[in-house]
Amino acid sequence: CAPKVKHSRLVKDDGGGGSNTKFDWKQFFQMLVPEMWYLLAAVIAAVAAALVNIKIPLLLGDMVNVVSNMTKEATTDFINNLRIPAIKLMMFYSLQGLLTFIYISLLSTVGENVAAQMRIKLFDSLLRQDVEFFDTHKTGELVDRLTSDIQDFKSSFKLCISQGLRAVTQTIGCVFTLYAISPKLTVLMVTVIPAVIGVGTMMGSGLRALSKAAQDQVAKSTAVADEALGNVRTVRAFAMETKENEIFSQQVELSKKMNINLGLGIGAFQGLSNVALNGIVLGTLFAGGYLMSGGEITAGDLMSFLVASQTIERSLAQMSFLFGNVVKGMSAGARAFEFINNEPKIPIKGGKIIPYYAMYGDVEFEHVNFSYPTRAGQKVLKDFSLKVPRGTVVALVGLSGGGKSTVAALLERFYDIDEGKISIDGVSLKELDPTWLRGKAIGFINQEPVLFATSVMENIRYGRPDATDVEVIEAASMANADGFIRSFPEGYDTVLGERGVTVSGGQKQRIAIARALIKNPSILVLDEATSALDAESEQIVQAALDNVVKGRTVLIIAHRLSTIRDADIIAVVSNGQIVEQGSHDELRKKKGLYWELIRKQELEEEIQTHQW
Ligand code: ADP
Repeated sequence: CAPKVKHSRLVKDDGGGGSNTKFDWKQFFQMLVPEMWYLLAAVIAAVAAALVNIKIPLLLGDMVNVVSNMTKEATTDFINNLRIPAIKLMMFYSLQGLLTFIYISLLSTVGENVAAQMRIKLFDSLLRQDVEFFDTHKTGELVDRLTSDIQDFKSSFKLCISQGLRAVTQTIGCVFTLYAISPKLTVLMVTVIPAVIGVGTMMGSGLRALSKAAQDQVAKSTAVADEALGNVRTVRAFAMETKENEIFSQQVELSKKMNINLGLGIGAFQGLSNVALNGIVLGTLFAGGYLMSGGEITAGDLMSFLVASQTIERSLAQMSFLFGNVVKGMSAGARAFEFINNEPKIPIKGGKIIPYYAMYGDVEFEHVNFSYPTRAGQKVLKDFSLKVPRGTVVALVGLSGGGKSTVAALLERFYDIDEGKISIDGVSLKELDPTWLRGKAIGFINQEPVLFATSVMENIRYGRPDATDVEVIEAASMANADGFIRSFPEGYDTVLGERGVTVSGGQKQRIAIARALIKNPSILVLDEATSALDAESEQIVQAALDNVVKGRTVLIIAHRLSTIRDADIIAVVSNGQIVEQGSHDELRKKKGLYWELIRKQELEEEIQTHQW
């Protein structure tokens, strides 16, 4: 039986979320308050522009009257007679242009100000979210909300106010104009035009649905190609080239058919709307001509009527387009507001602070139970108890997945525990100010430290923004980093990262150690700080660490047992519990899990050396 290549990507969910979230009108209006005067001026200018637009058909009619009377009179008067309506029309055109400039530029200012406020609020709110939030939301999704959602909201806001106001004012105004010219023709118009626009709108929304389906189908066929090409070795190994091509062809065929249908639909729509719109012109000319022949209206009136009814047509079409846009813009805005209004469970600030002179740095975990919120069913720590007395080095060891890193994350209060207590100097973590806890009390050095694309100086200062240059250099010296930093072309001003210099793993770690050290924390957490390095760099980093652990409470989460032999206490974590603890010698003698781990590691090292 031939193995099946799974096309998991065919079953796609858009994963957007937030479709049922509400648009926060209150907050939106609050953001508009500082922009009120600009907005008011913009609204007035937009309405004024629309009123001027209503007047233009009448002026055109006047001109046509002058022109049509011309044939009977002397040509010399032509210029004289035409001058006044022409100048008037010119002035109205200019006024319309000026007002358009005013409302568009004012609205764009308002739109940009509101969008900037929203972006800043959203970013601020995102930065404050619980770590749990980032376990469930991908960075791409968050960046999307910050960029395209707010962009969509902004353009739809601008469009609705400018075009919407104009379209509504023009429609109402022009209906009055039409009525003043000829009530009979107007009745005809107000029944025909909305019917035509209504049918057009229905056809338009049908086409949009068709277009969305066609786009989804294109995405499906792309996903098939992507999966097959991305896993070409598997496809080759199972000799599935022909089968893959069959699946791809089916998808492409389907997408082709849908797009051809879409093309037919668009063609029919365009053709029919041309016929309908031209039909309206012809009908007006016909009915208007009839009225003209009976002396009820003049040629100029007919001209005014034609232009005014075309303005109504355009305005109504615009309104139907705007309606779709409002829906889209509001849901984009709602998505942004959803995260702006999302309150984190763990606050960023607020609570007790232990002053530095009273701080001892005793850390204690008492009967802690914890599951990650994203995996509520799996208890990661079970009745976990551990004491890290002040000034001692406690190392957590054990097989991976046992819960060691979780202990570090909980000490930083990245997550709140379900049961039990974690305390520093007897004060529960829940009572302590998280900003103080993370910013001052605990220095955290991660296995793969992240440095920012800025200078070395600023990277170290990230640990304490008010540190002086001298303090930064002192911290770097303690972390054995001063030497290599000075050897960089621009010393401490050397920019790291993508376009800056690249640093080795060991150098990166030492910069990270300096960054943690500049806080002068009483408690230091080292999460597998040396496991990603080669032996030589490890020694240098280890020397730096030996320098910095003195006089502090240290919790090391270790992979390499060799680095923690000198720890005061070694605690073996297995399945979310401490199964044994003691010094290296004590645990060796005990011949329990620690002893097994050591033997396992020695065996692995032996195998490695034999391979060479
Ligand atoms: P260790 O550091 O001992 O290797 P961890 O503390 O990283 O172990 O992991 C303990 C358990 O918790 C593992 O089963 C792991 O899959 C799970 N886990 C770790 N981080 C998360 C997270 N952010 N969300 C859900 N589960 C997690």
